[in-house]
Amino acid sequence: MNLITSRWRGLAFVDIETNGGTATLDGITEIGIVEVDEDGVREWSHLVRPAGRIPDFIQKLTGISNEMVAEAPSFAELAEEVWNRLDGRLFVAHNARFDYGFLRNAFERVGMPLRPPVLCTVKLSRALFPEHRRHGLDALIERHGLVVGDRHRALADAQLVWQFWQLMHRQFEPEVMEAVVSRLAGRAASLPPHVDPAVLDGMPERPGVYLFYGENELPLYVGKSKDIRTRVLSHFSADHSSAKEMSLSQQLRRIEWIETEGEVGALLLEARLVKERQPIHNRRLRRTTGLCAWQLVEDRQGGWRPELVRGPELDPGRQDNLFGFFSSKTTASKALRTLAEEHNLCQVCLGLEKVRPGQSCFGYQLKRCKGACIGLEPRAVHGARLMMALHALKVERWPYAGPVGIQEGRDLHVVDNWCWLGTARQEEEVWALLESGQPAFDLDIFKILKKAVHKERVVPLTSVV
Ligand SMILES: [Zn+2]
Repeated sequence: MNLITSRWRGLAFVDIETNGGTATLDGITEIGIVEVDEDGVREWSHLVRPAGRIPDFIQKLTGISNEMVAEAPSFAELAEEVWNRLDGRLFVAHNARFDYGFLRNAFERVGMPLRPPVLCTVKLSRALFPEHRRHGLDALIERHGLVVGDRHRALADAQLVWQFWQLMHRQFEPEVMEAVVSRLAGRAASLPPHVDPAVLDGMPERPGVYLFYGENELPLYVGKSKDIRTRVLSHFSADHSSAKEMSLSQQLRRIEWIETEGEVGALLLEARLVKERQPIHNRRLRRTTGLCAWQLVEDRQGGWRPELVRGPELDPGRQDNLFGFFSSKTTASKALRTLAEEHNLCQVCLGLEKVRPGQSCFGYQLKRCKGACIGLEPRAVHGARLMMALHALKVERWPYAGPVGIQEGRDLHVVDNWCWLGTARQEEEVWALLESGQPAFDLDIFKILKKAVHKERVVPLTSVV
């Protein structure tokens, strides 16, 4: 046991009783803690007065009545005392998500973010006894002959968890326990070796973007999440560690994050930062220099002729009859050729094949062209068929009269012609962004914006200009 306690300031076996099952709505009615450290074992418990009432069925289950808690202190009054018993200790509980979730929420409300390493004894039992299906507290009592006190009161249940812990340390070799506990208390065991754990604790559980840097500020990875902290920690959890994540963890020297109001902001920022910083671990690191699309232009014979638009010429928000997108001229031509073959279009009319004037295309000889090249099919009909064949690739034009704002909480994403000008929180910032000019077209940004304008609140900004 010493092997394991030495890594933390000690162990805290915790159980709480509540007046309901939802950590954000319901309140704690009792807290029981068994503290174990170099100084020995201490037991502590206290009734807590919740904001709401305790329903009858919960009063029957726990034996804690509304009368009993009427005179008890509120959680805010007890917070510091509880904090001192938990801080720096391994938080051990049966079905820890429940107890930890309630306590974390309660501490959050009084402005004290609790972030202990957590170990769930349901998971511990499952890891040590995979042959058993039931791992509830009652199953453990039965299986291991635990001595039951006042069942469903906080301290008595915390004592049961402490009993189970001791029993396991007698039953299994220290090395086995060390390995299992390290794995389950995950983040303490597998944190990136060169990063201060306090930095990880300070990360917000809010949407945004995070950046990993290696030695000499080398950008390693850019990611986004609705919950920065949980996502970053998941990179290092023992459960999902792949060879790639392991090497990332080894190289990591510094973490930076930028909070956003919501997912759209996080996606936009991620797309921009990946392009700007070129992190070595981001697979979605596409060179966008070759990006192009086909534009159908009317020809002199009343048909349509595809022209390739690329680079700075590409401004899909303003361009009509645009079809794409393609990563290079080669892939664009290949896609057009395939469509021509599927739809019996003329490759000469499409500019994919050259013949002497008056001659038919090669496809005509194979009955794959209906003769538009030699005047057998009217160019207008061929053009209409081409338009239909390309329909699925049609790029939507900018559907607004001018620039718009996509409102996401306090963030206003200023957007024009499928380009993201930036995100503003003040009116002056909106002005500055509108005057800053349109950036080059970016396919990733386009995809994010296309979804966002149909889902989020869109405010026209034309009147501002
Ligand atoms: Zn032809």
